[in-house]
Amino acid sequence: MSNTRMSDGRRTATTNWKSDLNRNAHRVVLSGQPIAMHCHHYNINLQKTLEDALGQSGVDLLRRSAEEAIYRDFKAYLRDYPMIRSVKSRLEMAEILYQNCGMGIIHFEKNGPDQWRIVSPSSHHVTGWLAKHGRRDTPGCHFSRGWIAGVLAVIAQQCPEYYRVEELNCKMMRDETCVFQVAPRYPSVVAPHRRGGSSKSSFMSE
Ligand SMILES: [Zn+2]
Repeated sequence: MSNTRMSDGRRTATTNWKSDLNRNAHRVVLSGQPIAMHCHHYNINLQKTLEDALGQSGVDLLRRSAEEAIYRDFKAYLRDYPMIRSVKSRLEMAEILYQNCGMGIIHFEKNGPDQWRIVSPSSHHVTGWLAKHGRRDTPGCHFSRGWIAGVLAVIAQQCPEYYRVEELNCKMMRDETCVFQVAPRYPSVVAPHRRGGSSKSSFMSE
């Protein structure tokens, strides 16, 4: 990590991708955490197999696996970069990470208290799916739903499965963009690790 002085005199943390994203023998490592770069051949065959064999259980398995993996990795990543601490800068980092890992482009938009709307105009996974299997009748970006839920749970200082992510539009259905809607699964429940009786997180108040 390095510090850069901005035009208004503030200092901001920037990521040194050259040193942080590198190889350790056959493993690709991001800030000390082993990661899997996106491969649409692998991920699309994995998704097709899971959906065909297990149906909704397979979809949930894919989504939850993606959420657990990015939750752990993004949490470790932010621990290494304590200067990236505002919600805005953490969301920007998530967008950059998504793109740098070859998955595509996502944009986070606030959609109400503790609610989000994410638009993805470009996805390598979508491109691969359409090339191999053609148009779907149902949204298909289950991996992205889990990924989005994981990073938002970290930023909100919540546990995995805190957010429900629904895909309203999907380019796999030939919609113009993929659009995801995010809200807490159980909005009235106070997280057990929070003390002081407030059901609002600092995330909600921003
Ligand atoms: Zn989609």
